[in-house]
Amino acid sequence: MSDAAFTVIDLGGTTLRTARYGVADDAVTDVRRVPTDGIAGHPGRPVAELQARVLDQVAALAAEAVARHGSGAVCVSFAGPVTADGRALAAPTVWGGPGEQVAVRQRLEERLGLPVVVVNDLTAAVWRYVDPADDRPFCLITVSSGIGNKVYRAGEVLLDTEGHGGEIGHWTVDPSPDAAPCDCGGRGHLGALASGRGALAAARRAALADPAGYARSALAASAPDPELLDNRALVAAVRAGDAFATAAVRVGITALATAITAVFTSIGIRRYVLIGGFALALGARYAELLTAELERLGCFGLTPEEVRQMVVLGAEDDDSGLIGAGRLLAATLPAPAPAPAPTR
Ligand SMILES: [Zn+2]
Repeated sequence: MSDAAFTVIDLGGTTLRTARYGVADDAVTDVRRVPTDGIAGHPGRPVAELQARVLDQVAALAAEAVARHGSGAVCVSFAGPVTADGRALAAPTVWGGPGEQVAVRQRLEERLGLPVVVVNDLTAAVWRYVDPADDRPFCLITVSSGIGNKVYRAGEVLLDTEGHGGEIGHWTVDPSPDAAPCDCGGRGHLGALASGRGALAAARRAALADPAGYARSALAASAPDPELLDNRALVAAVRAGDAFATAAVRVGITALATAITAVFTSIGIRRYVLIGGFALALGARYAELLTAELERLGCFGLTPEEVRQMVVLGAEDDDSGLIGAGRLLAATLPAPAPAPAPTR
């Protein structure tokens, strides 16, 4: 049995985590977390300075971890778009921006002297859901404060070499000029309607349009003024079956179902794994509402029973970036030398 290990790193805007991924047991151990030394801790500093700070921090922690783990490679799961050769194109939550792109892989390989892979965090998370026994393609979708997706097919995550792809949250689902604004500056994007933030905004719009309905809903009990409504109350009301809250959330869910039917009809993906704080907080109810919308819209060529099989929920923890990074290395790096065959 191989005891090969990799060092895996999850670089987010607030937290930087390092861990050891053991190939044989397919698990992460020695998980250590520190605040990311970027824009969250030093707001207002120049982007170039924050980029240098974060890279120094990652390199130092990676070097210590590599020594502890005796690892043969490092994978960084990164909170922003990354090119195929490991250049980070942007990272507003990590070092602000816009700024110059950063050759993260090259810089870390120079400092560490061993192979480094750098991928977008959702790309890493995809590998957690790759099942060697079932190699059907699938699409991972995260629904949290924003929306993102990645498609896995035949051993790879489908992306342009310059990092494009997987940004279904910025697909324009509502082209009207006064459509809901998106964080990116655009309007009517899927993320503006269907993310956790989008759902909250939809509930507030519904309250403005129908104050009497809002007053009768479970939402009004926790927030008489809709401006004070938060996602916790919204999620609790939907889970409790409140009709007003459910109708408000369904606006975004319908938009997401539309996007899924577009992915399905264009490239035939039949399995959608949902993760992200908002979707997982609503849990089975979210999958149920989304499946109902998919059934209503229909997927050309699929039976209703086949449509009901499309949506599944992912794991509820925060470990997908680390576990996925380890699995990605295990699947894509050359296998370690096999142990000598037993002699008889
Ligand atoms: Zn957008």
